[in-house]
Amino acid sequence: MTDHTNPTPADSAPAETEVLIVGGGPAGSLLATLLARRGIRSVLVEKQTNLERSFRGETIAAPSVTSLNRLGFGPALRAHGFLETTSVTTIAEQREVLHVDYRKFAGQPLPIDIPQPSLIRIFNRAAADLQGHVYLSGWAFSSLIEEDGVVRGAVLSRGRGERVSVRARIVIGADGRFSKVRKASGLAADIQPMARDFLSFKLPRPPEWGSAAQLVIERDKHLVILPTFPDTLRVGHNLPKRGLGELRAAGFDAFKRGIMAISPQLAPLVDEHLRSWDDTGFLEIFTAEMQEWARDGLLLIGDASHTATPILGQGVNLAMQDSITLVPVLAAALGRGGPERVLTKAEFADFVATRREHKLHVTGFQRMQEANLAVADPRGVKLRRLKYRLLNAFPGKYRVFNKVINAQHAIDDVDLALARTGGPRAVDAADPSPYEVSAHD
Ligand SMILES: Cc1cc2nc3c(=O)[nH]c(=O)nc-3n(C[C@H](O)[C@H](O)[C@H](O)COP(=O)(O)OP(=O)(O)OC[C@H]3O[C@@H](n4cnc5c(N)ncnc54)[C@H](O)[C@@H]3O)c2cc1C
Repeated sequence: MTDHTNPTPADSAPAETEVLIVGGGPAGSLLATLLARRGIRSVLVEKQTNLERSFRGETIAAPSVTSLNRLGFGPALRAHGFLETTSVTTIAEQREVLHVDYRKFAGQPLPIDIPQPSLIRIFNRAAADLQGHVYLSGWAFSSLIEEDGVVRGAVLSRGRGERVSVRARIVIGADGRFSKVRKASGLAADIQPMARDFLSFKLPRPPEWGSAAQLVIERDKHLVILPTFPDTLRVGHNLPKRGLGELRAAGFDAFKRGIMAISPQLAPLVDEHLRSWDDTGFLEIFTAEMQEWARDGLLLIGDASHTATPILGQGVNLAMQDSITLVPVLAAALGRGGPERVLTKAEFADFVATRREHKLHVTGFQRMQEANLAVADPRGVKLRRLKYRLLNAFPGKYRVFNKVINAQHAIDDVDLALARTGGPRAVDAADPSPYEVSAHD
C-alpha cells in the first residue's frame, strides 16, 4: 500500500465513503491514518505512484514531535532513525550574533529531521491493514461532484481519460500549495508572493558539524543551513523574485562563488560537492491565506488552506497539526445525523478559527523575519546586527523563542484524540529495511 509503482486499479475505488481525502502528503496521510484508527471509512487519493519527493520540508518542530510521540509513532520514528537539531546560530557578516540552544526549552523535545517520504511511509504503513482505509495511488482529483451548491464527492482521473466518481460526506483538500481542490471549490485565496524565492541544495555533512543549524546573513543575502538525516546539510539560499534566469545566466561557478563568500565555513564543501544546477531545487515563495477553508461538504487543510514560507521550517508542522486537531472534530461531526448527511461548513468554524490563528502567528513572524533579512543598506545592516545581539543578551530570550517557534496549539487536541481511541498505540516500523537515499533525498 505504501510505495506503489503502479496506480491502484479503478475497481479498488469504492463508489462512496465517509471521508474523501485528496493528497497524500504529511497532512492527508496522517489524517487518513488517524481516521482509520478510529474505524472511520476514508479514501486517500494521491496522484503520485511513489512517495519520493525532493527538497520538501523535513523538519518536525518540537510540538509535533510531542504530538507524534503521544499518538504512538515514536517507535516507528526511532526504528527508522532521525536527526535531532540541537541549536541554531545566526551569523551576520561573518560574526556570530545570536545563538539559541534548543536544549534550553524546558519541557520540549528537540526538533527532528526525517525525510518526508519516510515520514509519510510511517503513517501509511500504520493505516495499511486497518479496515475501512483505502489508498488510491496514481489517481488525481479532477473535479467536484456538486448538487444544489453542496459538495457530494469528487471525480478522480488517471492516464488517458480513465475516471471514477467517489461520493463522500466530506471532501478534504490536502493537495498542497497549488491545490486543485481549492481552485475547484471557488473559495478565495489571497496569494502574496514574497520578495524573494529560494534555491536549495544538499551537501555531505562533515562529522565535526554536529547537528546545529545556522542562519548565515551577508547584507541582503542569506543561507539557511539545516543538518539533515542521515548525513547531509540542506542549504537554502534566497534569490531575488524571478531571479533564477539571471543567476543561471551568470553561470554555475559564479553561483558557487557567491555561496562560498557568504559562508566560508561551507566553502570547501560547496567547492568539492556542488557540481551543476541539477544539484539544486527551486522553490517559489509565496503565502496563501484564506478567510474561509470550508463549504458544505468540503474542507481544506495543510498547504492547500495556508501556504507558509520555509522560514523556521513550519510547513510540515502546520500541516500535521491541522490533521491532529481535525480528527476529533470530524469524528464528532460524522457521528451526528444519518450516514447520508453531508457535513456542513458551520461544523468546522471553530476548527478553522483555531488553525488560522496558529497559521497567522507563523506567517506573521515569517514576514517580519523576511523583511529583516532583506535589509541591504549599511545602516540597516548594522542595526540588524545590533538587534540580534540585544536579543542574544536578553534574559527572556528563551521565553520569546519558545513562543515563536513552539506554538502548541494542537497538543491539547492530541489528548482529545487519544481519549476517544483509548490511549496511544505503538506503531512499529513495518519495514526494517535500511532507508534508501535517492539523489535528491
Ligand atoms: C520544493 C519545496 C521545498 C520545501 N521546503 C520546505 C522546508 O524547507 N521547510 C518546511 O517546513 N517546509 C518546506 N516546504 C513545505 C512543506 O513541504 C509543506 O508545507 C508540507 O509538505 C505541507 O504538507 P501538505 O500535506 O499540506 O502538502 P504536500 O506535502 O504538498 O502534499 C500534497 C500532496 O497532494 C498530492 N496532490 C497534489 N495534487 C493532487 C491531485 N490533483 N490529486 C491527488 N493528489 C494530489 C501531491 O502529490 C502531494 O503528495 C517545501 C515545499 C516544497 C514544494
